[in-house]
Amino acid sequence: MDFQFVETNRNRKKLYCGGFFYTKIKRTDSAEYWKCDQWVNKCKGRAIINSDGGITLNGVHYHEGNPVKLEVAETVGTIKKRAQSERDAPRAIISRAVSYLSQTTSKMLPTVSSLSRFIRHAREKENSGPSVPLSLSELTVPPQYQNTAKGDKFLLYDSKDGTKKI
Ligand SMILES: [Zn+2]
Repeated sequence: MDFQFVETNRNRKKLYCGGFFYTKIKRTDSAEYWKCDQWVNKCKGRAIINSDGGITLNGVHYHEGNPVKLEVAETVGTIKKRAQSERDAPRAIISRAVSYLSQTTSKMLPTVSSLSRFIRHAREKENSGPSVPLSLSELTVPPQYQNTAKGDKFLLYDSKDGTKKI
């Protein structure tokens, strides 16, 4: 049985298999345990991913699977990736991402305004930069900040032992 992982707009990973979505319950050394995302409505569908990469499905879903939801989840994931890699206006990114979707699918997407908010949020998170260090040894300069915007070297010297940085 094929399965895949999708990221939701709340930054959580879900498992998709055969029309159903699962959220993770726990992980042990030998397997990962997932429950149907309709568990709140008492659905008994469960999935176990074994350490060999195989999947075992347990329990019976009381509801129908919905493959359209996968398309929705993937579209939201695409929007998020583009929001972080492109500087286009949120609405431009959204309309490009949904342009190829069927009507049924686009009806299930979050509204344009909540998607725009989601894009702004994803961008803010990315631009928040490193936190303020408390001491020199805690100060590590991530590669993207080691040069100035003009491309000059910002971090001139780093002794790496926490004693000297220029
Ligand atoms: Zn279910």
